[in-house]
Amino acid sequence: VPDQNMSRDRFPFPYQPYDIQEQFMQSLYSALDQGKVGIFESPTGTGKSLSLICGALSWLSDYEERRRQEAAALLQEGEAALSVSTAQSSTPSSSAEPDWITDFVQKKAERDLVTKLKSCEDDEAFKLLQLSKEDQSETQGDQEDEELIIAEYESDDESKSKSSEIFGCSQIYYCSRTHSQLAQFVHEVQKSPFSKDISLVTLGSRQNLCINEEVRRLGSIQRINDRCMEMQKNKHEKQHHEEGVKRKRGPAKSVCPYNKALALQQMRDEVLGTVHDIEQLLKLGRETHSCPYYATRLAIPPAQLVVLPYQMVLHEATRKATGVQLKGQVLIIDEAHNLSDTLSCIHSAELTGTQLCRAHSQLSQYADRYKSRLKAKNLMYIKQILFVIEGLVRVLGGKVGQNPQIFLFLLGTEMLTINNFLFKAQIDNINLFKVLQKYFEKSMISRKVSVRMYSSINASFRHFASADQQGSVEAEKVLSASPMMQVEGFFMALTNSNTDGRVVVHRQGTLSEGSVKFLLLNPAVHFAQVLKECRAVIIAGGTMQPVSDFKQELLFSAGVGDERIAEFSCGHVIPPENILPLVLCSGPSGQELDFTFQNRDSPRMMDETGRILSNICNVVPGGVVCFFPSYEYSRQIISHWEANGALARLANKKKIFQEPKKANQVEQVLSEFSRCIQRCALDSSGLTGALLFSVVGGKMSEGINFSDDLGRCVVMVGMPYPNIKSPELQEKMSYMDKHLPHSGGRSPGQALIENLCMKAVNQSIGRAIRHRGDYSSIVLCDRRYSRPATLSKLPTWIKDRTSTYTNFGPAFAALRKVRIKSKPVLVHVGKEGASSRISNISMLKLIREAATTKISGRALA
Ligand code: SF4
Repeated sequence: VPDQNMSRDRFPFPYQPYDIQEQFMQSLYSALDQGKVGIFESPTGTGKSLSLICGALSWLSDYEERRRQEAAALLQEGEAALSVSTAQSSTPSSSAEPDWITDFVQKKAERDLVTKLKSCEDDEAFKLLQLSKEDQSETQGDQEDEELIIAEYESDDESKSKSSEIFGCSQIYYCSRTHSQLAQFVHEVQKSPFSKDISLVTLGSRQNLCINEEVRRLGSIQRINDRCMEMQKNKHEKQHHEEGVKRKRGPAKSVCPYNKALALQQMRDEVLGTVHDIEQLLKLGRETHSCPYYATRLAIPPAQLVVLPYQMVLHEATRKATGVQLKGQVLIIDEAHNLSDTLSCIHSAELTGTQLCRAHSQLSQYADRYKSRLKAKNLMYIKQILFVIEGLVRVLGGKVGQNPQIFLFLLGTEMLTINNFLFKAQIDNINLFKVLQKYFEKSMISRKVSVRMYSSINASFRHFASADQQGSVEAEKVLSASPMMQVEGFFMALTNSNTDGRVVVHRQGTLSEGSVKFLLLNPAVHFAQVLKECRAVIIAGGTMQPVSDFKQELLFSAGVGDERIAEFSCGHVIPPENILPLVLCSGPSGQELDFTFQNRDSPRMMDETGRILSNICNVVPGGVVCFFPSYEYSRQIISHWEANGALARLANKKKIFQEPKKANQVEQVLSEFSRCIQRCALDSSGLTGALLFSVVGGKMSEGINFSDDLGRCVVMVGMPYPNIKSPELQEKMSYMDKHLPHSGGRSPGQALIENLCMKAVNQSIGRAIRHRGDYSSIVLCDRRYSRPATLSKLPTWIKDRTSTYTNFGPAFAALRKVRIKSKPVLVHVGKEGASSRISNISMLKLIREAATTKISGRALA
């Protein structure tokens, strides 16, 4: 951390920022400068991404400038000292050492300082030097066992982490949950005033970045990885052959034409010169015939802004494999409302009986085939891995070598601590740390086995079944997941400390259906390393409530002190009258709304919910989105409405849409929903818009915008509590009760349940208001929402405007008023019967529509 803190009054911004954006950038700037862990909350639609970009990049450019000035000043001092000492070298020394020794030591120290500072001045040159070293080491490869080069498995290069110690922070890593969120971020950078000066690289998997059509066609990520690496192995063998090493017999093996050092370096430079999103990277790769996946990897060290998915930065092994060096750098974690779950998920691992059997068979075949070429030590490690796999199969009630489909009599689920699991599987005598470090990591055995299996299966299909469609389907099945990689992940999970995780053993009817699953209970252990290494970490989200629980679980438990934490939270930019959140405690017929498990199935509750929706659809124009707490309840209530006619009555007012079963149909349903709303605003069908049934935590509750007319009202039916009977959740609750402090009369386990529920609610209701001019009402149907502890978990800008209604009448009156507040414009389109009342925002759509239809221009004027 620099001695004197920097600050800034104004930030480059593409337009006049809102006040809250200014405040956001100020706070972000000082959090980065002071090396804090910042929790930044800014509702969706308030321009959070731009504030993050302009705040963080302003700080980085000021910081680099200051480092340059400091270095220049030191360089001057050093050079001055050097010239003085050279001039004095003729004066006799008073020390006991011979003069020439004192002189030599002094001069060397001074020269070293000057050299260091000079190289610091030429930061770019240093980085390029690093890169060329990496390129060399890549081509030299690891020849210990079978000659397989895997560029992404470079070991942690000490010199790289030292660079940040010498030169300070030079990079910002930005990560988010989905690729579309990352793409949106990159587009915002492109629109920002920094787009011309910043060197940015977006990272992705081979599935996202491969341009070799033959490989892309393989579809699954594992198969793409394996095929790519098989081709690299071929390339390496070819190089050996060219260098005079005798090639084995057999047909020539293919190599990837896009993986050539010079082209990759050229592409790396182009990537760093202009901001590209993934699509643009693919286009550039195709134009220049170089692989975007490897070119972007090469661009990591010199880039100032690295944009990447969570997994690549939050998982240590993936971080190492990707070449991400966090030491001394800044990390921004966006959309972090579920960070704790995300960390648990990333570090959990599951193995099915089928995968165990396949891994055992593949590894045995590998060992047999290369027995004569493997060193004795490595053979010993392979035997240990096979022994552990046998133990895991035994725990599931099966036996290696036996048909995994035959029926087993041992059924049930068991939750074990890591140590108990190791005893039960009788593998407690194996040092898993050693196996992992000495063999899995060093020899990359999982990759090798996968690649070997891929090669041999490919070869056999080439020889015997190349034209056989059935054959390739079979091959696909075999290759769909690389079991050795899964085994490695599971081994790694078992090296967690005994208290931090559990192993869930599911014994099913057959061995192949059974599974062992590692559950991480303490995500802070894996986050601690990130927090320790980074200069500053910014955890940002639309809503981070409840911050206190978040701090306790992820920061204090990871050893971060209160003094290192900075918090920022801001309201929304919309005027207060544009949002009407209300808690509804009873329905139109006076039925109390209590969607607890015991009451929600009663016909009276379901009838009352139908009446509420019907009333809402009568007065709310455009789109209404109704969220149910689970798929099961949504099915039940909709079929109840189908039977009692409520659904038909709703359909008279709005066209009904339902969340699709498959994720790939979401886009289509959304565009039909949106088209229907636009059409209804113009036609004379009598429909006032559309109604969408969705499920909390489902395919439409995150990452989808119901802005403007798409969501004029969001209805939340009941409270989406997680399934408390789940053994995994129960284990997590008891872990938290044991290890975290109790506060406010609630146990941390109870708080977890409430938090999970309210986080899901916040995500769903946050879909509606997306920009300054947007407006919507939010109807929370359940009297339990009125409890102060529950209300306090709503985002502040919603909570402050929420009213609780014990009776339906006044709530309905308030809902009607929203429509009046939205100032609809009465537009006569000059055609009998075709007049519509529409909002200002729909007006724009209408004008656009008018340009292509025969709507009277005079009426529009
Ligand atoms: S080197 Fe790049 S383009 Fe070639 S197969 Fe691998 S990922 Fe695809």
